[in-house]
Amino acid sequence: MIVVMQAKATPDQIKEVEQTLEGWGYEIHPIYGVERTVLAAVGNPSEDEASLAEQIDALPFVEKSMLILKPYRLASREFRPEKSTVKVGDVVVGGNGFVMMAGPCTVESEEQLMTTARAVKAAGATVLRGGAYKPSTSPYSFQGMGEDGLKILAQAREETGLPIITEVMHIGNIDLVAKYADILQIGTRNMQNYDLLIEIGKLKKPVMLKRGMSSKIEEWLQAAEYILKGGNDAVMLCERGVRTSETYTRNTLDLSAVLAVRELSHLPVVIDPSQGTGRSSMVPAMCRAAAAVGADGLLVEVHPNPEKALKDGAQSITIPAFQQVMRELALVLPAVGRTL
Ligand code: PEP
Ligand code: MN
Repeated sequence: MIVVMQAKATPDQIKEVEQTLEGWGYEIHPIYGVERTVLAAVGNPSEDEASLAEQIDALPFVEKSMLILKPYRLASREFRPEKSTVKVGDVVVGGNGFVMMAGPCTVESEEQLMTTARAVKAAGATVLRGGAYKPSTSPYSFQGMGEDGLKILAQAREETGLPIITEVMHIGNIDLVAKYADILQIGTRNMQNYDLLIEIGKLKKPVMLKRGMSSKIEEWLQAAEYILKGGNDAVMLCERGVRTSETYTRNTLDLSAVLAVRELSHLPVVIDPSQGTGRSSMVPAMCRAAAAVGADGLLVEVHPNPEKALKDGAQSITIPAFQQVMRELALVLPAVGRTL
């Protein structure tokens, strides 16, 4: 940690800060400038550095402190310089292959899911998506089929061989959802549900952690740290768009998040252009862009009949549109050294 003293700090006050830092286990390297003093505190403190920095900041003669180490050790690139991969059956997320996860926003019926599952499988998807428990902004909109939806997903896996990703919304449901799911999805509204993250950290099961709709990359990586800290290292991230001043699109899909995560972390990143734009007309181009920018895969909403969808129809692409996306990806991916 670096501590910048206020210009008016007296030698006694500087000494006091030095002693406090030493008491926490730091070694102090001071720089006595003409105007002010800067203290470089190095070493492994006995307590959480961020909390110590807050205590230092509370002293009246301290200007500010800065942390040098990232607040997410296990998720950081320093901890693991090479990219990590998450294995889901035969599917590897984060390797050279680009992973397509597709299916309806929400499981609505056996027929709707089976039709979609067969079609996306035939087109080349390797993971089937579908929500059984849906977090909804409105309490009046469809909340999902619950366990019946999970059973239909399991049936689709049985028939197609596709592993399934589905959302777990709260702690009380983890065992039930984990019994059916191959990948547990943590939704944008739950990215900072720390109790949920801690419990998921105790499992040995792939997790996709969506970015909070107003979260900074650092907060997202700190959320991932909760899961990693618990011992579950099968974590992938999903950028699904963030809140901005724009209202034409549902969210602003932050493709630069892929690059930011790459620079800061070893975790794989998947793009969700469906929640990311809210508009089916934009989804195919965003799929191409996600592949070009270096994402590890996509999570795309596909519906056999979007205008009849119970949820997120406006952002769901049709089966023919999905087939076209797969043909386009087959052209884009080799150009950036990836395969489908
Ligand atoms: C979804 O994938 O359908 C969904 C609800 O996602 P998010 O949590 O990103 O809104
Ligand atoms: Mn959705």
